[in-house]
Amino acid sequence: MGRIRVLSDVVANKIAAGEVVERPASVVKELLENSLDAGATSVRIEAEAGGRRLIRITDNGCGMLRDDALLAFERHATSKLSDVKDLLSISTLGFRGEALPSIASVSRLTLETRAPEETTGSRVEIAGGKILRCDEAALANGTIITVRDLFFNVPARKKFLRSEQTELAHIASLATHYSLAYPDKAFELRHNDNELISVTPAGTMRERVFQVFGSQTLDELVELGELRREMPSDDDAGNRRIILRGFVSGPQVQKNNRNAIFLFVNGRLIKDRLLQHALNAAYHNLIPPSAYPFALLFVECPCEEVDVNVHPSKTEVRFRRGSWVHDFVRDSIRDVLMRQRPVAAVPTSSAARAPAQPGAGLPYSEFTQGIENLHFRQSDAEAPREAPVEQLPQFTLRQPAPHNPRLDFGAPLVEPVPPPVRQTRIPDTHGPLPPGLAEEPSPSLEVLQDLRPIGQLHDSFIVAAGRDGLWIIDQHVAHERILFEKVLRQMAAGMVERQQLLMPILVELTAPQQVEFSRIAAELAAAGFEVEPYGPRTIAVKAAPADVSLGEIERVLFEILEIADKELRNASFEEVRQQMAASIACRAAIKINTPLDAHKMQWLVDALSACQFPMSCPHGRPIALRYATREILKAFHRI
Ligand code: ADP
Ligand code: MG
Repeated sequence: MGRIRVLSDVVANKIAAGEVVERPASVVKELLENSLDAGATSVRIEAEAGGRRLIRITDNGCGMLRDDALLAFERHATSKLSDVKDLLSISTLGFRGEALPSIASVSRLTLETRAPEETTGSRVEIAGGKILRCDEAALANGTIITVRDLFFNVPARKKFLRSEQTELAHIASLATHYSLAYPDKAFELRHNDNELISVTPAGTMRERVFQVFGSQTLDELVELGELRREMPSDDDAGNRRIILRGFVSGPQVQKNNRNAIFLFVNGRLIKDRLLQHALNAAYHNLIPPSAYPFALLFVECPCEEVDVNVHPSKTEVRFRRGSWVHDFVRDSIRDVLMRQRPVAAVPTSSAARAPAQPGAGLPYSEFTQGIENLHFRQSDAEAPREAPVEQLPQFTLRQPAPHNPRLDFGAPLVEPVPPPVRQTRIPDTHGPLPPGLAEEPSPSLEVLQDLRPIGQLHDSFIVAAGRDGLWIIDQHVAHERILFEKVLRQMAAGMVERQQLLMPILVELTAPQQVEFSRIAAELAAAGFEVEPYGPRTIAVKAAPADVSLGEIERVLFEILEIADKELRNASFEEVRQQMAASIACRAAIKINTPLDAHKMQWLVDALSACQFPMSCPHGRPIALRYATREILKAFHRI
């Protein structure tokens, strides 16, 4: 007898479960997707103990016929595909017929379901993949699936589950983002009987973002509108339209990781490197290469253009015309960012400040930040790293959103954020979207062109009168942006201004620095450095970029080598070039605590208005604050 055997269904399902069911949130994802596929307009998710003890999803979708209720637990049983041809154009979220049998094989599951065309419903109980009972039951239309004791029979998996808080955060993040993708549906999430999400159908995605994140987050985001383009085609058949929708953050919002990026393709939450890359490319030059934006992107394209059958958990896709889609997404987002040019507003109220130390009185959003990273912080190298989710304390629910004084002078601020998931019922609780939110256009830096400097504050900030209010400009970051763009321009044109040094500066390098030095030698030359080897470990700098003062040359060089050494070892030359320009600009820019005369201030403002991206410095810090005339009038009770 041979040695190869065909595995039983029980074993096969458990193997599949290993891929499909990683944690409670993956169960929620599969069940939620099933409810959406079933046409539900209202979905309730209940969880206990982070989903480990219980997950229950109740929907008002089409339900299952009695015969189907049992069949649904057979491996590869699905109502969504019938033919291999269907695989080429999948419009439902599910199609593999694997989720229910997989989940049922690693938990104690109860299915209660009724289709409207039948007078009674069915109740099926399964534990560890074995059907315990199947009864007729009096039920309302729709489906309730209860999953208890996840991984009770897979101790190895159970051990890998994280704390209750972490698992809940994953579930909350998932539910939040599906609720954003389907604004016309009602969603509810309860944990241990606390309501975490409750949203009623919203008219627009913007309204849903407001329901879920609150107005302050909405303020930080730029809406993409509905960007459409016809895709190229081999034949002229059918609909070729691709649509990009969603929200992205301005350059002042920077994250340490990708956790605040949510990508949906045809209503499916996915992780996709191509789209990730397109998004990063859109922010090229606007935020540092090591930072990530917040993004909520919804791509809709013809089903044939995207293969969703790439990964068992259906979290990856493959585009047929990948590079075309990449460029479309990159260019669309970049256009919007450039047109928007948002300016930070000066806070107008002295209400609650940001908690001084991260960790003190954390709102719910900070609790979930490890997952969602919804916590916006002002970019700054010194800003504290985000605490891992486990270290964050238990959150309290329904905390009122603090007023958000976004920007302040001085030390880096940790910004208060509204809870991402609010107890919001539109219109009963919060009323409709405040009119200001929907209508007031973002201030634009176009008005920089006729700013009139009035004076300088603390020898550091230029105070200027503009046609739309009072402006405060950080002279150092403004100059940094001006120089950064100048250096990049000169580098691209191969005409960098440089200064010959009377005496060469000798710089000693470590071994890794030497390696990096030889790798980026040509780039250094392009940036204006003339450097020659001088002994085994020493280099002699004979010329340097024009704007850098003598005392700073060595530091700039080390900074560049260090960047090359640490972060950018694998970075492209383009990124190295940018970092070099940023470093030169930062070292050469006017410092704070430097008095400026009227002429210099005017020059700075004029040069800033000529910049391509005058809204943030190369490190992403804001350059200008605006106190709108309207706010001034309001504060004086004149309107
Ligand atoms: P898939 O979603 O890939 O088809 P699943 O194992 O998730 O596979 O579900 C199997 C089948 O069970 C589905 O095709 C669908 O017919 C049915 N089903 C699952 N959940 C629901 C639900 N909430 N409402 C109605 N039918 C459902
Ligand atoms: Mg499914």
